[in-house]
Amino acid sequence: MFEFENLLKETKIYKTLKKDFKESNLSHCIMIISEDAIACENLCKIIARMLLCENDDCGICKTCKQIEKGLFPSLIIPQNLTADGLRDFISACYKKVDTKIKVALISNFQDIDPREQNRLLKLIEEPAGDTIFIMGVTKVSAVLETIKSRATKYTIEKFDDNALKNALLEQYDSYSVERAMAFSEGSIDKAIKIIDNPEFIDSYNTMLRIFNDMQKSSGLLEMVARTNIRNKRTFSDKINALERYLDAFEEVLRQVVEYKSGLNDNVDDIIKQINEKYNMATLVNVEDLIIEAKKKADANCDPEGVFYQLLMDILEVRFKCQS
Ligand SMILES: [Zn+2]
Repeated sequence: MFEFENLLKETKIYKTLKKDFKESNLSHCIMIISEDAIACENLCKIIARMLLCENDDCGICKTCKQIEKGLFPSLIIPQNLTADGLRDFISACYKKVDTKIKVALISNFQDIDPREQNRLLKLIEEPAGDTIFIMGVTKVSAVLETIKSRATKYTIEKFDDNALKNALLEQYDSYSVERAMAFSEGSIDKAIKIIDNPEFIDSYNTMLRIFNDMQKSSGLLEMVARTNIRNKRTFSDKINALERYLDAFEEVLRQVVEYKSGLNDNVDDIIKQINEKYNMATLVNVEDLIIEAKKKADANCDPEGVFYQLLMDILEVRFKCQS
């Protein structure tokens, strides 16, 4: 079984492609798109297995088992995404196989350097007649237009909360799943990131209060002290903590913006209080400021300094946008 298989087999994409395949209507170049990296990668693999298994994607035959191990000769997967790995992949795509079709699968296509993507273009334009391409993409902007325009594109829809929750409960305890669900936004990937990172929720709660409480520049040092950046021992731990606070801050901001735009009423009281204090113009600017702070964290600037500056800049923006 692939990860989250039951959930993924219920997606519209899986059902549509299965039907198209049975009716010999399947596109020969399929692009599966989703920011949810776990869903994207696994759905690509499941579709490959669906196309190659001769027993209706049974999941138990020899073919299915070999596919799950990545060892089935008619399923061509690059060893790696470097020039060498892709050269071998391309030549394997032109080789004859014993099965009726072969599937060429690159489940994280966005990671291929644009120059190497160009090399794949010819293969995609003039494939051997029996080849079906499946590309998984988590970031569409990283894929060349020429590749995109040749593919039939499918976007994975957000998962229904209940279905996602049940799928997570097969692997994780209910306490972790409940906490993660509040932030999952219908994404397996987001939910698991929260489950794997319990500190995130503490960071979220801290950011919620800081954003609500911050008033004037004289109080900002106290705000910075509410984070545990200073208590981290090594510099890289401090950077990691900063990054976690910034991620959590983005989450707070998303919820405020959704509440303000009427997209989601089911929010914490503090989100409602924050909503009263900041207008939309300010919130949009805060979003940019967080992105800027993330860049500084990437560049290894002083973590507490970056955080302090961010809060300062927010006060300034708030003053400008609301007076
Ligand atoms: Zn099978």
